[in-house]
Amino acid sequence: MRKIQMVDLNGQYQTIKEQVNSSISNILETSAFINGPEVHAFQKELEDYLEVKHVIPCANGTDALQIAMMGLGLKPGDEVITADFTFAATVEVIALLQLTPVLVDVDRDTFNISIAAIEKSITPKTKAIVPVHLFGQCANMDAIMALAEKHDLFVIEDNAQAIGADYKNGKGMKQKAGTIGRIGSTSFFPSKNLGCYGDGGAIFTNDDDLAHTIRGIVNHGMYERYHHDVVGVNSRLDSIQATVLRAKLPLLDGYCDARREAARKYSKAFEGQENIVVPVTVNNCGEICESCDCHVFHQYTLRITNGKRDALVQHLNDSQIPCGVYYPIPLHSQKAYEDDRYNEDDFPVTNQLVKEVISLPMHTELDHEQIDYITDTVIGFVNG
Ligand SMILES: *Cc1c(COP(=O)(O)O)cnc(C)c1O
Repeated sequence: MRKIQMVDLNGQYQTIKEQVNSSISNILETSAFINGPEVHAFQKELEDYLEVKHVIPCANGTDALQIAMMGLGLKPGDEVITADFTFAATVEVIALLQLTPVLVDVDRDTFNISIAAIEKSITPKTKAIVPVHLFGQCANMDAIMALAEKHDLFVIEDNAQAIGADYKNGKGMKQKAGTIGRIGSTSFFPSKNLGCYGDGGAIFTNDDDLAHTIRGIVNHGMYERYHHDVVGVNSRLDSIQATVLRAKLPLLDGYCDARREAARKYSKAFEGQENIVVPVTVNNCGEICESCDCHVFHQYTLRITNGKRDALVQHLNDSQIPCGVYYPIPLHSQKAYEDDRYNEDDFPVTNQLVKEVISLPMHTELDHEQIDYITDTVIGFVNG
């Protein structure tokens, strides 16, 4: 059996090596390292793929979130609601901009932000909601957009984990994750579903004025050379990363299929296992469906409900099976984000999930033999 990797970047590289190597060496020859034609071409191709009017490439997914919030003109003291169960980048940029993060609980089935919890947390100071499409599946955008409309709030989608996912709204219409709210952001970190070979990110919006504002913000607040109209940042995608992304974008749907296929094999093997709860795919109309394209499985995350999660992590490590715990500590319990306003009773689900979740190897190069070995090992240990 091939050695099992959590994410098999090299295995995937081997399948696109010639094209990537030759386009990188073209860039070295032309020396158009920054804002070159490759970056513009990638921007257009991603706009077409996502069916969104504007893609603004930038340096990474954390910058993308920060720039989105700057572009919307959020001001110190504005409250921004986001999920307690996510990667810290989301809350970090809220705090950096001196906005007030309001962390709320998530749903047990989907790991995504709880609509009831958002509703309970809206105050006159609330200005935005940041749903994170965690592990590759959209949050309940119909309900979030309805709340946003009712209370006049911006919706900023953190789409770092769900690029390529479809969201099917209540009317049966499909939209790409990240293009539904006022603005969306993503990351091209190497291990993300569409990853480059360094850092990269992008912002998406259908709003022409907002896109114009943001194109200036990413470039030192310049709309005309050496005229600085607003305080900006320096956040660029470089040409070498853009050329890698151009090679991989046409393969993204196939990559998503491969991930879903691996997820299906995992879930089939765990069927009927007591103490192991497999991830649920929600067809966003409230129906739970077997094989829709609404989930792109950035992570395949189980809940181990008999208290053996930590022991399982150890056992998998001993069995040469890498795994991850995303995320082991709720954000509201992190030193940097503690706040007297938070009450433990408001986070029953996150407090439970951090003790139960475990993510198994998930990438485009997993084979049958590896998946069988992983599932046999997990089942043998948890129910052994
Ligand atoms: C990866 C990630 C980010 C940050 O992306 P970087 O490119 O690493 O800055 C933000 N939010 C979520 C949910 C992520 O998974």
